[in-house]
Amino acid sequence: MTEQVQGLHHVVIVGAGFGGLETTYRLAGAGVRITLIDRRNHHLFQPLLYQVATASLATSEIAWPIRHLVRDRPEVTTLFANVNGIAAARRCVLLEDGAEVSYDTLVLATGVRHAYFGHDEWEPFAPGLKTLEDATTLRRRILVAFERAERESDPGKRAALMTFAIVGAGPTGVELAGTIVELARSTLPQDFRNVDTRRARVVLIEAGQRVLAGFPDDLSAYAHRSLEDIGVEVVLGQAVTDCNADGVVYGGNQLDAKTIIWAAGVRASRAAEWLGAPADRAGRLQVAPDLTVPGHPEIFAIGDTVTISAWNGQPVPGIAPAAKQEGRYVAAAIKARLAGRSMAPFRYSHSGSLAQIGKRLAVIDFGRVKLRGALAWWIWGIAHIYFLIGLRHRLSVALSWLWIYLRDQRAARLITQGSSKVNVR
Ligand SMILES: Cc1cc2nc3c(=O)[nH]c(=O)nc-3n(C[C@H](O)[C@H](O)[C@H](O)COP(=O)(O)OP(=O)(O)OC[C@H]3O[C@@H](n4cnc5c(N)ncnc54)[C@H](O)[C@@H]3O)c2cc1C
Repeated sequence: MTEQVQGLHHVVIVGAGFGGLETTYRLAGAGVRITLIDRRNHHLFQPLLYQVATASLATSEIAWPIRHLVRDRPEVTTLFANVNGIAAARRCVLLEDGAEVSYDTLVLATGVRHAYFGHDEWEPFAPGLKTLEDATTLRRRILVAFERAERESDPGKRAALMTFAIVGAGPTGVELAGTIVELARSTLPQDFRNVDTRRARVVLIEAGQRVLAGFPDDLSAYAHRSLEDIGVEVVLGQAVTDCNADGVVYGGNQLDAKTIIWAAGVRASRAAEWLGAPADRAGRLQVAPDLTVPGHPEIFAIGDTVTISAWNGQPVPGIAPAAKQEGRYVAAAIKARLAGRSMAPFRYSHSGSLAQIGKRLAVIDFGRVKLRGALAWWIWGIAHIYFLIGLRHRLSVALSWLWIYLRDQRAARLITQGSSKVNVR
């Protein structure tokens, strides 16, 4: 690093997800030096993670090495490191390996993790979906369940292997349920000899009264009908009370299921704990209207790890466009400060909510305009391809989807991280 760059105002950004990366991009030309820290070496497009878990896309189609994304920015240093604390009084970020990184301005964009409502012991039986490792673990469990069913002669055990329980009917649960049904009914049948994969049960369990609760009633009802039409069993109003090696318990009954997927709850990263800052029940840091941490004007926090009522008085949703808008705002706020100007409070503007249910089935809520069915599905697909980074990823995902659309073939059906001797769990 040149001496000229070294003398610049130092912005440290923790987390290269949607929020942190957007801040980095938007600070281009701001006359600051940036250290971007992430415990993973890649930026991940989480909205398509379920497609990796269901063998529709490969891991490399939805992730990018962070270093590559900032290769043209000499003022950005990338650190592959886990942050485990902040010494705010000394303006230092503390890394797990004992190193410290000092900052002039700090941006925390560390996202969320799974939450099991106080039942962390369920996690080994019901893994969630947040990282690429989670996705490949789920893919493995789903594919191994079919492989074991093929060799199982006991009808009860075979039925349990062919039952997939998904806890939580938000967008991730709905998308997983729809895609596992398609995998079982359209992609796999020809490849198995002893087991009819079309008989697989996919059970979507939701404690609330409707699927896609964040969508308007009519779209939610449409999604429910569509899921049942394609073969998903939807269970509403039943909270899961146990997940174990044999299956899942709800409403006092055990559903024997060898594959359980947790899509029900999240908990914020430890950003609020690091600072001893106020947080909501999910651990989300409560930030000021300008996205700074109360009492620390030099620390901004953005994305899923914070809570702020900046959407016409309502909490900003935990979605990628919100994290990106916050990242954009923080970059503008840092530039404004350096220029001696002030900024109006952050305001979130919502452009719409999308969820895919299955082939030619999706719902979109643009506010006044609501779409469902095939048109919504095409728009959903085009929007997701548009938001991927780079032409190569866009072409690759478009080609994979075209193949699935025309031939029902999913090329990423690879069982990795274990041999045939390894059990599903
Ligand atoms: C399965 C799934 C599906 C989703 N689908 C959609 C969708 O369809 N549409 C939509 O808009 N949103 C969707 N979301 C939500 C969206 O992905 C998030 O809102 C968005 O990623 C939030 O961005 P962020 O920057 O706050 O956090 P993230 O993108 O999660 O990034 C956080 C980053 O911080 C890093 N990090 C965390 N802790 C540390 C630490 N201690 N040290 C170093 N680095 C750390 C992580 O490695 C990660 O790279 C989905 C999320 C999931 C999990």
